[in-house]
Amino acid sequence: MHHTPLIATISAGLVLAFALGLLAHRLRVQPLVGYLLAGVMVGPFTPGFVADQALAVELAEIGVILLMFGVGLHFSLKDLASVARIAIPGAVGQIVTATLLGGALAVALGWDLPAALVFGLALSVASTVVLVRALQARRLLETERGRIAVGWLIVEDLAMIIALVMLPSIAAAMAGGSASTGQMLLTLAITLGKVAAFVAVMLVVGRRIIPWVMHYAAHTGSRELFRLAVYATALGIAFGAYKLFDASFALGAFFAGMVLGETKLSQRATEEAMPLRDAFAVLFFVSVGMLFNPAVLIERPLEVLATVLIIMLGKSVAAYLIVRAFGHPAGTALTVSASLAQIGEFSFILVGLGVALGMLPAEGRDLVLAGAIMSILLNPVVFSLIERRRAHIAPNPPAEKREAAGVAPAHGVITPAQEPVALAPPAVLPPVEEAGPVLSTLSDHNVIIGYGRVGSRVGGQFAASGEAFLVIEEREEALLAARHDGAEVIIGNAADPEVLGLANLAAARRLFVTIPEAFEAGQVVQQARAMNPALEILARAHSEECLRHLEELGATLTILGEREIAQRMIERAFPTQMAQPPLHAPP
Ligand code: AMP
Repeated sequence: MHHTPLIATISAGLVLAFALGLLAHRLRVQPLVGYLLAGVMVGPFTPGFVADQALAVELAEIGVILLMFGVGLHFSLKDLASVARIAIPGAVGQIVTATLLGGALAVALGWDLPAALVFGLALSVASTVVLVRALQARRLLETERGRIAVGWLIVEDLAMIIALVMLPSIAAAMAGGSASTGQMLLTLAITLGKVAAFVAVMLVVGRRIIPWVMHYAAHTGSRELFRLAVYATALGIAFGAYKLFDASFALGAFFAGMVLGETKLSQRATEEAMPLRDAFAVLFFVSVGMLFNPAVLIERPLEVLATVLIIMLGKSVAAYLIVRAFGHPAGTALTVSASLAQIGEFSFILVGLGVALGMLPAEGRDLVLAGAIMSILLNPVVFSLIERRRAHIAPNPPAEKREAAGVAPAHGVITPAQEPVALAPPAVLPPVEEAGPVLSTLSDHNVIIGYGRVGSRVGGQFAASGEAFLVIEEREEALLAARHDGAEVIIGNAADPEVLGLANLAAARRLFVTIPEAFEAGQVVQQARAMNPALEILARAHSEECLRHLEELGATLTILGEREIAQRMIERAFPTQMAQPPLHAPP
């Protein structure tokens, strides 16, 4: 038998994560709980099979790389600059607060100052994987609050790079050793210089070469080569950043993504990176579970509680106050706080180094690991409490602003003459912000789910005829376009009963389900039918199976896109035979 630790770790990790993830889903808790538990089960602290811990950590790093690459794809340099004003002071302020709180706990536990420093720092940095997944699941990544959270994370990442290189000199200095202040400053300058060099190389050279390589790969017409180009860019640059410039994998991957994101290929690149990314993100949680020793919960419950409170409460309050101090709305401050109220991979690296350097006692590491797993477990709970406030009817802008922006009044009659005005960029509208969930007061109205290529055409017609309509969309951009057309709008995933419930479907006349995804469309149709048995539901489908599925769930009329296309082509080719078009009959 040959030795196969990599295969064993991946297979055991994925199989158990799948089984326990399913079970968690069944029990109506986050699948993430299942993944963590899978990790505990294959970890060294529980009996039975023990997977390779070092390998699991490396697999998790691949997850970090792919996730940050994906985040970078949707981030531009402009976005980064626009959030820097709040992200830099915010992250620094939060790191200082968390380090002081953590340090105070360490001192209370009788540890010395170096231990207090490492422990405090470890509590101050959030996990990339947890943050990005949480934002992704709620489709917040491309909103302003999402961008602030990501910018904040990148500053934390930089702070950690510095902390990791400085820790050995600090340890030496604190032990009364040789390292002088001058030497420490030199180390700091070299590290910052290297990171700056990496960023400069990416922005000057990478920006030219990467898009060119990608276009070249895309033009070969081979999907396989394009996919390979995506993975080679993400992993290659992340590894290069780490090896050559002492930056982190996450930072390297983020910049690789950002440079590629400026090209038209970013959407395709995202699609290609997705499947692998999700699998590795699951392995991240398994690897976190593996590090956790459940005994610590019984042996030191109070210390664990204090650690968790610092991570989840202390850090959140600090972040909330900072974001508010910068004049952002409460909703933004809550989302940013919730995103960062957890710790993960950086903390593990930091405590690992701290213990190796003799700065931190082993109990410190156990507390950080316990704090991490508890905060990761509780993070989705915190998020759903906060995000419940998000599903809402976005207020229409006040009349003066609307007029200044050249926007037609909500529900007003838009005459064709007004149409050119309506083309003014919707960006002039204020961002969609909270007002708390409010049930629509419209009745006998039309509801459109999705305001993309299909929904916006339907909506345009309602705008032109002056009929009241309501739109549910999850993309802020599309939502602004709908509001611009005079619709009442609700932001969120229409498949979520709480969101759909706000549309007052019981009193509506017609529902247009224009989203392409069959599973979500089915959920919308099913719930809508339950809310109003008399509602006319028109739905969009792209396959025979989907068409049948939607009709079984209660759609009045389902329109199969491909069949309509064929129909138009046939009409063109056989104009004389079109007296009795079999539009919705089977072909
Ligand atoms: P298109 O395929 O161009 O008609 O675009 C579909 C639109 O529907 C996009 O703007 C999506 O953001 C939106 N969409 C897709 N799924 C959902 C959903 N579950 N809830 C709300 N909007 C959605």
